[in-house]
Amino acid sequence: METASHIWSDGEFVPWDDANVHFLSHAMQYGTGVFEGIRAYNTPEGTAVFRLRDHMIRLEASARAYNIPMRWSVEQWEAACLELLRHTGLESAYIRPQIFYGVGSIGINPANNEVRAMMAAFPWGAYLGDDAAEKGVSTMVSSWRRISHTSLIPTAKGSGGYLNSVLAKQEALAAGQDEAIMLNDSGSVSEGSGMNLFVVSQGIVYTPPVSSGILEGITRNSVIDLLHGDGVEVREVDLVRGALYAGDEMFLTGTAAEVTPIRSVDGRQVGDGSRGAVTKKAQELFSAAVAGKLDEYRHWLEFV
Ligand code: PMP
Repeated sequence: METASHIWSDGEFVPWDDANVHFLSHAMQYGTGVFEGIRAYNTPEGTAVFRLRDHMIRLEASARAYNIPMRWSVEQWEAACLELLRHTGLESAYIRPQIFYGVGSIGINPANNEVRAMMAAFPWGAYLGDDAAEKGVSTMVSSWRRISHTSLIPTAKGSGGYLNSVLAKQEALAAGQDEAIMLNDSGSVSEGSGMNLFVVSQGIVYTPPVSSGILEGITRNSVIDLLHGDGVEVREVDLVRGALYAGDEMFLTGTAAEVTPIRSVDGRQVGDGSRGAVTKKAQELFSAAVAGKLDEYRHWLEFV
């Protein structure tokens, strides 16, 4: 990965190589952390963070869900993020804040452990490869089911939960596919290993609801608003596996993946195998929004 000069650590800037964490940190042992993934874009008017407030609100919600004291307010996290971007001088960046339990005790109960707050910003290009935005990615339905509402909290971005995503991603790569699609315990479609899923069928856009076990993506919600604002009908409905084979177009959304077309599922070509018109529209609207070119959505940008 590309690095940056400094990392924000509990309110201070430390050199990138010194942002270390003790081996016996609770989060290291048990995954007791919550985090975010945010992007800052280099727009014609300078660097802007996309939906910074919404990401920090989700960070706070994740922390509350997993009983991790927030320590810093949403506003303080926002200010620290902007300060980090100024301090590192990055024009565009992927930003990773995390709140987690550090050292204290090694037992399961983290209540007496220190709570750490750290945030990195660094350059990161296209998550699913440079060609993916145009040519799309290959996918398979994973044998791993998405974490359920009865054993973890899929709506929260909890570190430990990502073991589930890692299993699905590794399985997909081992099978020669780019990305995994996970079903939930009921067999309905949920999402990718780190992105939400959309299916386009006869001009209508479908995406699984929050009850399906998804993380409610900020890119997902942005794309729903953008398409809706452009007169495209978007429905949040339970999708069966067969819907993945019947769709005319499919795409993934996420902060890292942005809007990425899917060209195949389980060896079956999606549509004619090339990027569809609705997918292209979603990409164009999203690119315009993050570049500050859509007046209606300028409030999504926080300029550094
Ligand atoms: N689902 C999961 C499991 C994710 O990790 C992510 C990335 N945060 C998403 C969906 C997409 O969310 P967002 O658009 O907010 O990045």
